Amino acid sequence: MTSLAELPSVRVRAPGKINVYLEVGALQEDGYHELATAFQAVSLFEDVVATPAEGFTIAVTGAVDLDGVPLDDRNLALRAARLLANETGYDGGVHLDVHKQVPVAGGMGGGSADAAAALVACDALWETGLSGPELSRLAARLGADVPFALRGGTAIGTGRGDVLNPALARGRFDWVLVTSDDGVSTPKVYAELDAHRERHRVDIGPVAARPSVDAEVLHALRAGDATMLAAALRNDLQVATLRLRPDLAAVLEHGESSGALAGIVSGSGPTVAFLCPSAEDALELRAALRSAGHAAVHAHGPVPGARVVG
Ligand code: ATP
Repeated sequence: MTSLAELPSVRVRAPGKINVYLEVGALQEDGYHELATAFQAVSLFEDVVATPAEGFTIAVTGAVDLDGVPLDDRNLALRAARLLANETGYDGGVHLDVHKQVPVAGGMGGGSADAAAALVACDALWETGLSGPELSRLAARLGADVPFALRGGTAIGTGRGDVLNPALARGRFDWVLVTSDDGVSTPKVYAELDAHRERHRVDIGPVAARPSVDAEVLHALRAGDATMLAAALRNDLQVATLRLRPDLAAVLEHGESSGALAGIVSGSGPTVAFLCPSAEDALELRAALRSAGHAAVHAHGPVPGARVVG
């Protein structure tokens, strides 16, 4: 009989992300919004180990608060494995061990990274041999942020964020991320943004039907210039997240007055990301935020997407 330790397994690592630019277009009739975003994959990683099994099972561990991670078929990593099996006609199962570093419901795409990692891990384990574009098409069916977690690096996302084009990026950007124990629901943030735009329709003016990423952001990424990028950071969801989580305004102020070039809510939040001039500055800011009682971690980007490791 084969013991568990002898079963072949595949380990895949996938990154979390920060949206360094996120413009949200007007609410459409189907209830969605057209987006224009610039993603940067950062060095907070999800590790997924896939081992052959008869059914589909999952175990989740990690350094982050794991409340809210479903362990049944709602889990994005399990959904990814089942989707790949259905699409390729694979008739076995898999056990997934997920180790999380990305905060849950934190606006950093942790679930999407798990899904991307599970796709790559099962593709390797089952030798299904899908091409990059085929995996990417499956990824888009699992969620708008999943194709980016597969690709990593720096990319521009349009549509719902899932239509990707690579962006030229040089150098390295250093971030300090302040995480929160309580996540926020992305649909609630969008609903709050729609209500805010409705209330302030006269001041805000018409919202772009077809948003696009500002040229300054592309320029800053191409130049690898953190000061330029700091001046061009934009997140249209931030106003809505701050209404749901007013406590984050003080966090943003604290970081920006303690050495960050700029701070921004990551995606729908509540993680707050501070861009720093260098790794050394980031470590100093991390210490200052920690001594004020915040959970702060240092990460850098861009880093690669979902890859087999070890
Ligand atoms: P979103 O894609 O909604 O913007 P996020 O980046 O803010 O997400 P995630 O950590 O991806 O946050 O989780 C969002 C929700 O997805 C969780 O609250 C949870 O209910 C569900 N979920 C499903 N699978 C996973 C997973 N593998 N890890 C974390 N959450 C998951």
